[in-house]
Formats: sequence, structure tokens, C-alpha cells
Amino acid sequence: MKSELFFLNADPLLRDECSQILQCPEQTFPIRYLGLPLTFKKLNKSDFTPLITSFEEKLDTWSSSLLSMAGRLVLVNSCLSTLPVYFMSVFKLPRWVIKELDSIRRAYLWQGHSKKKKLITIAWDKVCSPKIVGGLGVLELESFNSALLAKWLWKWFSATHSPWQSLVRSLFEHNTFLPQNSPLMLAFQQILPAFHAVTFFSIGNGAIVLFWHHNWGLGLLALTFPILYSFSLDHDISVANFLQALTSPLNLFRPSFMSSLSAQTQFNTLSQQLYNSTVIPTTLSQDQIHCKLTSNCLTSSSFYKFLKVFPKIPSELNHIWKLLLPPRLKTFLWLMLHNKLPTIDNLQKRGLPIVNRCCLCKNCSESIAHTFGSCSFFKDVTNLALNRTGTTRWHLQDLHPSAIIAGNFTNKQRELLTFSCYFTWRERCSRTVSDHTSDSNTVAFLILEEWRLLNPD
Ligand SMILES: [Zn+2]
Repeated sequence: MKSELFFLNADPLLRDECSQILQCPEQTFPIRYLGLPLTFKKLNKSDFTPLITSFEEKLDTWSSSLLSMAGRLVLVNSCLSTLPVYFMSVFKLPRWVIKELDSIRRAYLWQGHSKKKKLITIAWDKVCSPKIVGGLGVLELESFNSALLAKWLWKWFSATHSPWQSLVRSLFEHNTFLPQNSPLMLAFQQILPAFHAVTFFSIGNGAIVLFWHHNWGLGLLALTFPILYSFSLDHDISVANFLQALTSPLNLFRPSFMSSLSAQTQFNTLSQQLYNSTVIPTTLSQDQIHCKLTSNCLTSSSFYKFLKVFPKIPSELNHIWKLLLPPRLKTFLWLMLHNKLPTIDNLQKRGLPIVNRCCLCKNCSESIAHTFGSCSFFKDVTNLALNRTGTTRWHLQDLHPSAIIAGNFTNKQRELLTFSCYFTWRERCSRTVSDHTSDSNTVAFLILEEWRLLNPD
């Protein structure tokens, strides 16, 4: 017999009887159900261990030494970031779990399987920013967790009559909405301000909508009338109950409300607003929730974008990802524009005792501004590539690396300049680790070969 019986608050006699009738053994919590821990208590460390282990196991199967950083970025985004999705759509991950998962993702992205720690990296916050605001677009787990959990809030307030909604409502005394101090609500506390900012209600019977906290046509009243709200007897009162009791304010507010002039003023303003409002609860229909982000319902991806992008300003670095370039070149350009390539000056800043001399022109100190700007070798390579591809007939003077995106170039010119930077850097790295050198003609030829694969006409 594969089935087992679990009882909640059942009488021992009834339990025995049921077990005998159904011929199933009785079991107790905690258990794992559909791969997730099911328990009455707060999850402990061991409940999260399988999640972390699955991350590490997944890494072991990948031959990261063969992948470029761009390849590892794809895997971090597509596999590593999605592994805990199932878990995160049900539980709020504790900070320590996110830290652990992030340290695995970070090490994999920068180092691959190498045990040697990379000297030059970019802040994880930046890496996890969306590309539109200049980041690398790696999913940020805490916001993503919130976005997944927000779906439950959406379900809660939607008039779907789903089994989950009926079950949770039946668990609380208030059967209209979650009490603010319920365990489920505590997990939602951090999400609620953002959730209310992107949702609004149209009033039906006014039973689900919270008078003070929800946007139901008059803004967020707890914020508009903070003094009056502080006198409120029930901060979670529904719109229907509030309006019903409005004729006797002492049923809504503490008695000291009568002696506060500012509370009285706010009450008069609020009453006037309610009087002018066309929002009148009816008993005919249910309250409806709407989302400002998408037309019909709140999605985790739209909510995640809202959490990560709003109210940041779009960055011009977003152009990198629109260029017609192989991913490894885009990632290279992103690192270069953040001044995070291991050039000698950057390594010196991290304490490496090395002499700074550009191995390409043998004339100046090496830095990103020099190697991809004023270096004579780079300029030769770039001019040869630009002229031979027929992209342009101009002769490139000193270039500042940031001009590749910020400057007045066409996308084709930007793409070719990136090729030139990338192959110049490859030549520089090859000279650093071996005696083999190629001249600017050979490097320009390599650029042309790859360029023509991407631009056959
Ligand atoms: Zn140089």
C-alpha cells in the first residue's frame, strides 16, 4: 500500500477507524510533498539543504572550463537561476540561503571551475541589475522570490474561488481577507508596498478591499490621512464595514480622536471625499483587482521588472545588447566599459608587483584607455579593419573606449570597433602568456574573417 494518512486535529478514535477502513498507515508531519517540505513549524536549515545541494550538483555536470564568460552567463541565467524557482514560488528564502546560492553563482560566473579567485570582478548588485539600467541581467534572487510570491497575493485578492483561496480563508476568523499578523501575511509584508503600488481595486461589495491600505479609487488613504489612521480602531477594516459605520465615528476611531483638532480636520476632508466619490459598494458583485503593469493579471516577470527597474534611469550601456555581435564580444565590451579587464594598471591596483608596459606598442603604460584608445597597435588594427570591411572610409584618431557606445557611431561601426578591441585584447593576452606575436595585419585579417561570417554581404 503506497498511500498514507495524515490527520489535522482529529480525534484518536476517528484516526484509528479511518486507518482501518482505508487500510493506510498513519503518518505525521513534517514530510516532503511534491518535492517541498510540508511542516507546521518554521523551516529549518536542513530543509534548504537539498536546494543548495542541487545547485552544486548541477555545476558539477557542466564543463565550465570550455566556456567563455558569456557562455557561463547563459547557464547562470537559464539553469542556475531557475533551479530554485519551484521552491521560491512557495517559500520566502532566508537571507543566508540567498547568500549561499549567490556565492555559488558568483564563483561560477567569474571563475568557472577554477579554484583561483578572480582578482577583478564587478559588484554583484551591478551584475544583477537589468541590462536596461546597465547591468548584466542576472536574476536577483530576493526580488525574484518576491515576484513569485506576489502571485499568491494576486490570487488572494482575485475573485477566482480557487481551492487554495477557499482553504486559506477558512483558516482565519476573518474570512474576508488575511489578518495582518497571520504567518502567511508576515511573509508578504515586504512585498505589500510594491504590490499596492502596482494594483488597484474596483469596488463590488467592498468586502475584500481594505479601506486604509488598498488603492480603491482614492489613493492609499493610510498615507493621505496618517493622523486619522493612527486613531483607527481597526487598521484592516474593509471598505464595506467602514462605510457602514461612518455615521458613528466612535465605532471607527479611539475616543481621543474627538479631542484632536488635526484628526477632526482630516476626518472632515475624508468625509467630503467619500461624499463626492462615485464608489459605492453594492452587494451584487465581488471586488475586482486590477494590475497597472499588465492588462489582465499580475505576472511574476512584470512584477520583477517593476521591482528591479523602477524608478532607475535607463543606461546607454543597454545598447551593447542590441548590437549584432557574438555574446562573448558583448560580455567583453560590458566588462571593458566598466574598466574591469585585467590590464596591468588594474592588477597593480590590486597589489600585483608587475612593471607596467604595453606589450603591443612597447611604448606606454597599459590601461583600458590606452589599449583601446591611443595604442598605435590598436589604431593600426582598427584602421585596417575599418577600411577593408568598407564600413567606413575615415581614418580613426585616438578613441576613448566609452565612445564606442556613447559616441556618434553607427551600429555597424560600433560592432567593428568592438571586434577590433576584442582581437587586440586577444593578441595582448597571447603575448602575455607566450612568445608568439602577430602583427597588426594578421590581427586585422582575423577580424575580417569573423566579421564576414556575421556580415556575409
Ligand atoms: Zn600600446
